[in-house]
Amino acid sequence: MKFLILFLSLLSLLWAGPIVNIDSDRFSITDFELSYFIDTTDEIKFEDIKSKEFKQGPNEDSLGVKVKNVWIKIKFFNPTNEQQTLFLHQDLAYKYSSLDYFEVDGRDELIDSHTITPYGSQAKEQLNGADAIYKFTLNPSEYKTIYVHQKTLAYHFYKFLIFSEKESISYLIYEKVDAVLISGLLLALALYNLLIFISSRYKEYLYYSLYLISSTLWIFYVYGSLAHYFEIYGYAPARFNFSIMIAPIFLALFIKTLFRTKENYKFENKLLSSIIIVSSSNFVYGLIDFTSALEIMILSLSYALVLFMWISINLYIKGDKLIKIFLFAHTFYLIFSVYALLYFMGFVDSNYISSHGTSIGLVIEAFLLSYLVAYKFKLMEEEKEEEKLKQIELKLLASTDPMTKLYNRRYFTEISKKVLDLSKRERKNLSILMIDIDRFKRVNDTFGHQFGDEVLINLSRLLLESQRKSDIVCRYGGEEFVILLPNTGLEDATILAEKLRVLVEELTLVSPKNEGFNFTVSIGVAQIDVKNEENIELALKRADDALYIAKNSGRNRVSAKV
Ligand code: GH3
Ligand code: MG
Ligand code: MG
Repeated sequence: MKFLILFLSLLSLLWAGPIVNIDSDRFSITDFELSYFIDTTDEIKFEDIKSKEFKQGPNEDSLGVKVKNVWIKIKFFNPTNEQQTLFLHQDLAYKYSSLDYFEVDGRDELIDSHTITPYGSQAKEQLNGADAIYKFTLNPSEYKTIYVHQKTLAYHFYKFLIFSEKESISYLIYEKVDAVLISGLLLALALYNLLIFISSRYKEYLYYSLYLISSTLWIFYVYGSLAHYFEIYGYAPARFNFSIMIAPIFLALFIKTLFRTKENYKFENKLLSSIIIVSSSNFVYGLIDFTSALEIMILSLSYALVLFMWISINLYIKGDKLIKIFLFAHTFYLIFSVYALLYFMGFVDSNYISSHGTSIGLVIEAFLLSYLVAYKFKLMEEEKEEEKLKQIELKLLASTDPMTKLYNRRYFTEISKKVLDLSKRERKNLSILMIDIDRFKRVNDTFGHQFGDEVLINLSRLLLESQRKSDIVCRYGGEEFVILLPNTGLEDATILAEKLRVLVEELTLVSPKNEGFNFTVSIGVAQIDVKNEENIELALKRADDALYIAKNSGRNRVSAKV
C-alpha cells in the first residue's frame, strides 16, 4: 500500500500541471486551475495533443477575439475510499461550434470520448440550458484527465465548474439569476421610458429606451439566458451580438436630441453622426460576414466609447448645464466596459467585475441617464415658467402707460371689444366715463410741466383706488381718462361719476409753492346700447359729447348722454 501511494505520488510529480482533488461527496468546485493549449494551425488531432506544452490558467478566462481553437486539460484525483461521480460543467457552451471530450486514465490511455455540437440540431439534447455537462466517475485513488477540444465562432471564453450530482442540479437552477436580475431591471427601465415617450412624445425617451433594450438583449445573450431559459441555440442567438453593435447608434441619437447638438454644438453633432455611421456599417457588415463583423465590433465599440467621452468633455468645457450628469454616467460605463473589454481580449484575469463589467457599467449608467432625462425636463419646465413670466411682463409693459400705470389707449381698444362682446352675449349693461381735467393748461403754465405730471399721477391713483374689480381704467389721451364699466347702466354710471367728481374736488395736493392745490374734472357719461349691436367708437363719441356739454355748462360737473 505504502508503495502504491509513493508510486502514485511520483506519477503525479511526473504529471506537470494542476490537479483537482475530489475529497467529499457533495462538492462544488468553482475555483481551480487547469491548463490550455491554443491551436493556431487548426489541424492538431487528439493523438498529437498530449505531447504539446500546455499553459496553466484559471477555470474561467477569456482568451481573446482572435483565438478560435483551444484544448483544455483538467486533471482529477480522488483521494477518498469511495467512487465519485463528477459533473463537469461548461458554461455558455452554446457559443462553441463544437466540443470534443476525451477521458484519459492515469497512464494517459484513452478511456472514452464524446462530441457535442452545440450549434447543431441536437443542441437541445446535448446541452443543459446554456451548459454542456460531461459526466464521469473517479474510483478511489484514481487519476484521470479530461481533455476538452473547443472550437468557437466569436471571441474565445471558457468557464468550467465541477459539481457533484446534487450541486450540478442546484447550479442549473440558480446560475442565471444575476443575469435575469440585470436584464429585468434594464427592461423595466426601458419600458418605463417607452411609456413616457408615448405620453410625452419627447424623442429622448424613445432613443433612451431603444438603447436600453438593445443593451439588455445583448446581456441576455452573453449571459446565456437565451439558451438557459428558452433553449435557443445556433446562429440565431449569436446574432444577438448585433444588439450591442447598434446600442451606440441609439445613445448617439439620444445625446443629439437631449443636448440639441445640431443647433448648439455643430462639431460634436458631426462626431455623433460619425458614431452612427461607424456602428451602422459594422451592423451591415455583420449581415454579410458575421464573424468578421464581430472581430471589428470591439474597434467600433471602442471608437464610440472614446468619442462619447470626448464629446461630453467638450460640452463640459463649453459649459453645458446637463453634461455633468452624462459625463459622470459615461465615466462609470467606460471604466467598467474597458475593464470588461480587456478581459474579453485576454489581457485581464477573470473575476466577477471583469466578466460582468459591461452590465454593471450599463446598470449604473442607466440609472444616472434616467436621472439626466428627468433633470432635463425639470430645467425645461423652469425655463418655460420663466419665459411665461417674461411674456406676461412684456404684455403688461405694452399695455400700460409708464407714468400713470394705467392701461393705455391701445389696450383699451383691444379689451373694450372683448368686454362689449361679453356684455352682448350676456345681455348686460355697459357704460363709459370720459374724464377730462379742467383748465389743465393753466396748471402747467402756472406750476410747470413736472407738477402737471404729478397731478396726473395723483388723479390716476385716485381713479385706481376707487375702481371696482371689473372696471377698466385707462389713460386715453394727455389728461383724458376713460373708464369702462361692465354690468353698469347709465344711472349707476352717473352716480359713480358724481362720486369720482367729488373725490377729485376734495383731493388737496401741495403745489411747488408749498400751498394747497385743488383741481376739478368734468365727466361725460354714456351707456352702450348692447341690444342694438352698437360699437365702442359710437359710445365714445357720445361720452365725448356729454363731456363737451359738461365743460360748456361750467366745468366740474357730470353730464350723461343716452
Ligand atoms: P379744459 O378745461 O377745456 O379741458 O381746458 P384744458 O386747459 O384742460 O384744455 P385741454 O384739455 O385742451 O388741455 C390739455 C392740456 O394738457 C394740454 C397739455 O399741455 C396738457 N397735457 C397733456 N398731456 C400732458 C402730460 O403728460 N403732462 C402734462 N404736464 N401736461 C399734459
Ligand atoms: Mg383735454
Ligand atoms: Mg382739459
